[in-house]
Amino acid sequence: MSDEYGICPYNKQHRILLFRMPGHIVKCVRNYRGPPLAVCKYNATHRLPAERMDQHLEECVDYKKFHGYKNTQIALQARKSPPRA
Ligand SMILES: [Zn+2]
Ligand SMILES: [Zn+2]
Repeated sequence: MSDEYGICPYNKQHRILLFRMPGHIVKCVRNYRGPPLAVCKYNATHRLPAERMDQHLEECVDYKKFHGYKNTQIALQARKSPPRA
């Protein structure tokens, strides 16, 4: 199991094991009193102000994984069925 830590989006003082982050966020958000944070479409533990989401997606590893995978699938399908009939 990975022992990588991430910073809790609701409290920068919280260093949480990444695999515990989803459960932590559920608890931590109940005590959160700041402005609402938008949730990254590609990883529910990525939360940040909506106006910073575009910037986040440029560096989001899960966004890159998702699109890398999708591009691979499209490439495979294209090979299976060539455009010329
Ligand atoms: Zn927290
Ligand atoms: Zn993300």
